[in-house]
Amino acid sequence: MVSETQHSMKYEVPHFINGKSVLSADRKLELYNPATGLVIGHVGVANKQSVDQAVQAAKIAFSTWSATTPSQRAKILFRFKMLLEQHRDQLIHLITQEHGKTLSEAKGSLQRGMDVVDFTCNIPNHLKSAYASDVGTGVDSYSLYQPLGVCVGITPFNFPAMIPLWMFPMAMACGNTFVLKPSEKDPSCAYRLVELAKEAGVPDGVINIVNGDKETVDALMTHPDVQAVSFVGSSAVAEYIYTTAASHHKRVQAFGGAKNHCIVMPDADLDRAADALVMAAYDCAGERCMAISVVIAVGDLVADKLIEKMKPLITNMQIGPGDLSGIQMGPLVTRQHLEKVKSYIEIGKQEGAKLVIDGSQYKAEDHANGFFIGACLFDDVKPNMRIYREEIFGPVLSIVRVPDFSTALQLINEHEYGNGTAIFTNDGYTARTFVDEVQVGMVGVNVPVPVPVAYHSFGGWKRSIFSDIGMYGKDAIRFYTKLKTVTQRWFPKESS
Ligand code: NAD
Repeated sequence: MVSETQHSMKYEVPHFINGKSVLSADRKLELYNPATGLVIGHVGVANKQSVDQAVQAAKIAFSTWSATTPSQRAKILFRFKMLLEQHRDQLIHLITQEHGKTLSEAKGSLQRGMDVVDFTCNIPNHLKSAYASDVGTGVDSYSLYQPLGVCVGITPFNFPAMIPLWMFPMAMACGNTFVLKPSEKDPSCAYRLVELAKEAGVPDGVINIVNGDKETVDALMTHPDVQAVSFVGSSAVAEYIYTTAASHHKRVQAFGGAKNHCIVMPDADLDRAADALVMAAYDCAGERCMAISVVIAVGDLVADKLIEKMKPLITNMQIGPGDLSGIQMGPLVTRQHLEKVKSYIEIGKQEGAKLVIDGSQYKAEDHANGFFIGACLFDDVKPNMRIYREEIFGPVLSIVRVPDFSTALQLINEHEYGNGTAIFTNDGYTARTFVDEVQVGMVGVNVPVPVPVAYHSFGGWKRSIFSDIGMYGKDAIRFYTKLKTVTQRWFPKESS
């Protein structure tokens, strides 16, 4: 375990291979506390040999794990769920320490991960298959959902517990073994999760962690004993993972970036819309793939009123270290990411957008070296601008003004990303048309961040996804199993 005492000094996050902590003999990367800007630890980069050790451990464990009954697996996952609840506070602090988000954001996202563990506790029911008797005379047919083998998960920095929890419990519940490669920027929480899985009774080798960067990912994706790869991260990397892993004959699902639009209609409740949009754009400092980063205001009056209502909410936002009470927005994850987000503020100004609120020069009191930025709001953003087209992944909200609903809908449908979207309106017909016609995977009606609950499935469209199957829920059962369909006939003894 990465202990509290180690945390006051510099610590190292090990790999977790075959139920044991393995310190890396390979290259090491620095870990930062984004609120102080200081190096607080290190994480090793697993090379080909370390990756092979983890995959072999998972391959050996597969033969016994896949032979356990779904209800035996469910019992272990239930104990895992109880341990997650018991250790909730520790997990939340680990998330905030390396990611920077506020404790309440860490708590909410951990809960969204734990909801998927809840879902796995009912795995016997979800693996039940269909049976049809007498499909021909004396012939019956039924389906089996069988596990794949060694599955791999590669996860991004922005949800260091939630996204790993969307993957490995579902894969394990279906009878697979797993190798997780968490983000190299905040790997401690994932490590603690698998320690708790072991404590819950998950046998050695069933869940492993190799830390690292591209070198590690490449070794995983091309390993001959890996059967499937789940990836979440930016679209350029998602596309690379999709094509590379598929060309190495893996089943692949790769989830990419986003530019989520919210339409605000003239008949909407603008107070509610303003409150919701501030939360949707700036919570987690905008570092979430379901954040709203574009508001499409239908009519100038809507845009003017919204800005007037959002301005005090944005400028009064409490910014600071995520572990202090009352803080609403923490720092960004790294200095490089901070510089990238700041560069988009300059780009937006040069492109001619109107910077209504400029948080780019924000300095946190007592934390001058932290990776802080204040909330930024652009008005008069046009569809040809880079700040409109590209994912910024920071607390930067753009307002685009359009004359009518159909122009708003067309803008969304023409955008290259299609992860999430929302509309604020009080008109059922407009809402229904939007739901029917919008080319986006997750849609909210007067709900700004429509992340599906654990018993639906998560997934965007267009360049926000490279595959056809979503994460968690029924889609995950399908992704983490092979379908086998049996057609059988039995003859009476005397005719044999
Ligand atoms: P990233 O693409 O930089 O990294 C994601 C993972 O890929 C990490 O584990 C990283 O080590 C690895 N990686 C990075 N570059 C690689 C390369 N060249 N080759 C192989 N592996 C590589 O993403 P990030 O900065 O960690 O996360 C932010 C991005 O993730 C945003 O674009 C965000 O929209 C996206 N995201 C998407 C979803 C979704 O469900 N669609 C959810 C969360 C985050």
